Amino acid sequence: MVAKSVPRLNNQRMSLAGDDPRLAADHEHGSELSETQLRVRALESILVEKGYVDPAALDVLIETYETKVGPHNGARVVAKAWTDPDFRQWLLTDSGAAIASLGYTGRQGENMVALENTSSVHNLVVCTLCSCYPVPVLGLPPVWYKSAPYRSRAVADPRGVLHDFGVELPPDTEIRVWDSTAEVRYLVVPTRPVGTDGWREEQLAGLVTRDSMIGAGLPKRPQDVR
Ligand code: FE
Repeated sequence: MVAKSVPRLNNQRMSLAGDDPRLAADHEHGSELSETQLRVRALESILVEKGYVDPAALDVLIETYETKVGPHNGARVVAKAWTDPDFRQWLLTDSGAAIASLGYTGRQGENMVALENTSSVHNLVVCTLCSCYPVPVLGLPPVWYKSAPYRSRAVADPRGVLHDFGVELPPDTEIRVWDSTAEVRYLVVPTRPVGTDGWREEQLAGLVTRDSMIGAGLPKRPQDVR
């Protein structure tokens, strides 16, 4: 990729701030950006200046993950499984193909496995090694998914983790924990909420939360969205 336009960032101001105490003070109190945002911007600026990245390409990537790839994709998969028995069957037997039929493909979604929650089984997904995640259907993983406490406790004490997320399951519900890898990514199909008979797919999709597709939450109930 070749840089085609000037950096969007005012790198000059940051280097000036480093040299001049008055500007440094202004920098500390005047900027609306956090330390991390400033670091990211400085890094982006250098990469652009050196011609390693194209700002337009970065914009496309960011826009993709902000608007196109996200939990709304997975919610559509789940809602379709709730309303279409043939699709549900397909999803549970050949997840990748069923998900791809809705247009959700791409990196980190090559081998997808859908796990269906039932009245007796609840599935919880983790990546104990790092942060493997079904990106085409859920987007980028939340911070807690990548955190060491979640990664270790999800395996050692899944019920305790669910409790921390506000999920209390009946004592006899079996909790199955699935460890994602670079090869296999899991999507939980939560149980369809009661009181949604006759709901259209689009309405149902509005009940499917990101956390419910990781297994760390439950879908919203009809009374939650009224
Ligand atoms: Fe991982």
